[in-house]
Amino acid sequence: MRLWEMLFVRATVAEAETTGRFRRIRLRAEALRGVEWRPGQQVRVDVGAAGALTPLLRTYSVWDRAGDAVELQALLHGDGPGARWMAAVQAGDEALISRPKGDFVTRPAAYHLFVGEETASVAFGAMLRALPAPERAASRAVVEIAGPQDRLALDGDVTWVPRDGDSAADSKALVAAVRQMELPSEPGQAYVAGEARTVQAVRQHLVRDRGWPRRSVLTKPFWTPGKRGME
Ligand SMILES: Cc1cc2nc3c(=O)[nH]c(=O)nc-3n(C[C@H](O)[C@H](O)[C@H](O)COP(=O)(O)OP(=O)(O)OC[C@H]3O[C@@H](n4cnc5c(N)ncnc54)[C@H](O)[C@@H]3O)c2cc1C
Repeated sequence: MRLWEMLFVRATVAEAETTGRFRRIRLRAEALRGVEWRPGQQVRVDVGAAGALTPLLRTYSVWDRAGDAVELQALLHGDGPGARWMAAVQAGDEALISRPKGDFVTRPAAYHLFVGEETASVAFGAMLRALPAPERAASRAVVEIAGPQDRLALDGDVTWVPRDGDSAADSKALVAAVRQMELPSEPGQAYVAGEARTVQAVRQHLVRDRGWPRRSVLTKPFWTPGKRGME
């Protein structure tokens, strides 16, 4: 066994199912039992060829977690080793994955605001589901999507923003949707994720136009044109 393989968990694909452009993949491994996971955290998946000398890693949020399993929702965005691997994987296949980690998790706040596109909606789903009911009721989510087929089942008050054929990169539609929102005068806690330039634009709007403190806007760039595997 190679050194890097010891840092990963060997999991078996228990289920793989495509709905719209999302492929839901349930991975099981005895070594995942009892491992801590905070909603919003992610795993890294080796999407390289079996037996390769080095891993080819891509990052995916954990959509759900129970017992010895983690469930992912991969957006089949087009061409990339991650998207190709996720599209091809079938129940019974093996996968090397890391244990969940990351700091894109909810913080104590008067209310929560989630902003992003399809890829970010995976983390948002897990985060919203885990909020106590009154906190979830006071939360808002704004999610840009290519079309209705890409709506994940998110708990709570979600505004879906269709991008009408435009690119998800440097999206004007998402910032415009946040700009139009009526929010309480006091800042809440925002979680902004997805395409890197759009994330920056939303953050700028909240900080510059709405006067939110920087620490109240937690950002996480997930991908951007021309870059491969952002984490
Ligand atoms: C913390 C974190 C959590 C993430 N969670 C998820 C998740 O739950 N589900 C999920 O699907 N993705 C998630 N991502 C994004 C995912 O890791 C990237 O989309 C990754 O680039 C996919 O790898 P790839 O090999 O398919 O493409 P890459 O080889 O990495 O990228 C090639 C090119 O494809 C394009 N591209 C990449 N992603 C997208 C996209 N989403 N839409 C349009 N074009 C794209 C870009 O032009 C990029 O340059 C997450 C990323 C991070 C950092």
